[in-house]
Amino acid sequence: MEHKVSSDEKSFAELSPTLKELQISKSFKHLNELTPKEKQDFFDSFDVILCDCDGVIFQSLHDVLPGSTEAIDYLKRQGKEVIYVTNNSIIPIEAQLKKFQKCGLEVKKHEIVHPAQTISDHLKSIQFDGLIYCVTSEAFKAVLREEGFQVVEQCTTFVHSLEELRAAIYSDDPVKAVIIDVDFNLSASKLMRAHCHLKNNPDCLFIAGAADTLISLDGKDVIGPGPYISVVENTSKRKALILGKPGVALRDIFMAKYNFKEPQRGLFIGDSLVTDVRFGKMCGFQTLLVLSGSTTREDLQSNLQEMETPDYVIDCLADINGYFS
Ligand SMILES: [Mg+2]
Repeated sequence: MEHKVSSDEKSFAELSPTLKELQISKSFKHLNELTPKEKQDFFDSFDVILCDCDGVIFQSLHDVLPGSTEAIDYLKRQGKEVIYVTNNSIIPIEAQLKKFQKCGLEVKKHEIVHPAQTISDHLKSIQFDGLIYCVTSEAFKAVLREEGFQVVEQCTTFVHSLEELRAAIYSDDPVKAVIIDVDFNLSASKLMRAHCHLKNNPDCLFIAGAADTLISLDGKDVIGPGPYISVVENTSKRKALILGKPGVALRDIFMAKYNFKEPQRGLFIGDSLVTDVRFGKMCGFQTLLVLSGSTTREDLQSNLQEMETPDYVIDCLADINGYFS
């Protein structure tokens, strides 16, 4: 009698489809599967690289993904311009620059696009003048202060009574903008205060940076700021202006700032389908997904929306080093 192999008996490699098999049903191409001529054509098809950082170059807050900085250096030596587009404003920009430097990459401040800087630039462009209430990291607030904006100090004590709650959420401060980004010390009272400012003053701006539903921590997904932004949107009946990936408003500012004449000559490299591939496609760039971060091969099997289907896939950025002639 024929022995039927149960799924339990199959090895993971047998169960996990190869990228080549996945390509049959999806429209992306794996760079390693291209012919030498196709590789060269691909390499010649872009001049600018828009590169996400976490999950592409960095593995965690402190670790670099092996070979990734060498790959960036290689691409730069081939004449490609590199702009870093991250949703991470939780690390002070000086520390971010030192991190690059430690890995042998010379990166300048203006080459990094991140929510705190984008929001600051936006506020300047509209000549914003007023108090800002931030539900963000301290590093985020520091960027705003350095750019000359006034940020309301948050009462950080825990709330133990209704009296303390009132003191935490009701304020006479003439707040004219509420900003939400990643805040590891987020609390109900902070969200309540954000809600109060937005409800009490229809002219108060509502701006968000990173709006990721999930963020990656030690290879695991944890709740990002997205759901909390939605809470305040729902309660205040206001819509936040999203100035992190994949916000439409960020796209408009970003495209105007860099004045891309031919977006199709840009290549967006990222590890997230929802954040990076979608944003890259919204801007009209080609997209390359790396599998060294938040997206797995199994994720590529799901019913991907067209806007979240990358043009190309590669296991990790290091594979590009010395890849093209
Ligand atoms: Mg990433």
